[in-house]
Amino acid sequence: MFIGHYAPAFAGAAIEPKVKLWHMFAAVQLVDIVWAVFILTGIESMRIVPGFTAANHFDLYHVPYSHSLPMSVVWAIAGGAAYYFARRGAGRTAALVVGAGILSHWFADLIVHTPDLELWFGGPKVGLGLWHYREISLIVEVGLLMGGVYLYQNLTEPSHRLGEYSPGLFLGFMIALQAFNTFGAPPPTPNAAAITALFAYFILIGGAAMLDYTRKPKPR
Ligand SMILES: [Zn+2]
Repeated sequence: MFIGHYAPAFAGAAIEPKVKLWHMFAAVQLVDIVWAVFILTGIESMRIVPGFTAANHFDLYHVPYSHSLPMSVVWAIAGGAAYYFARRGAGRTAALVVGAGILSHWFADLIVHTPDLELWFGGPKVGLGLWHYREISLIVEVGLLMGGVYLYQNLTEPSHRLGEYSPGLFLGFMIALQAFNTFGAPPPTPNAAAITALFAYFILIGGAAMLDYTRKPKPR
């Protein structure tokens, strides 16, 4: 999954005002940031197989350290704990929201991946395979994201004159990235896929920081 991962990011930052949106953007993609680094360093492996699924070309045959269920729990606990100690003022609930955001990655991936997500080390691999249906997977990604943005839009208000438009502009940009991802040509190599992904994740974290700058939580 790509932009659908950010639905829980918008929801988390909307519901817990102490958590910045850009922190949630890093949290929900932490597993994929780790994945990209592990691909680049040879710790994990994948193949580019054009047409492997209708929606992308990734044969993720060895991703146990980033994408197994037990490691997702480890990333969530480690990330939530790191957040708790790095931002003590934010409190325990904020750290729990960040940890839940990290864990949400695995369950969102479960919907779209082919069976490549290990339930435990060496255990069965699962994945419901929505990527085999290109248009449906695109609609699900966009639909999830729009739900998250709707919640965010309703629980925050502009703090800058651009704040009226920033969520809509950012949503449009994200949908364009997803369309490029879904309909674009396969990346030439696994390393190219990992570098492109990292680049996209950090651009989106920057975009989320712009939303943090232009909007603030509504008084409750
Ligand atoms: Zn993933």
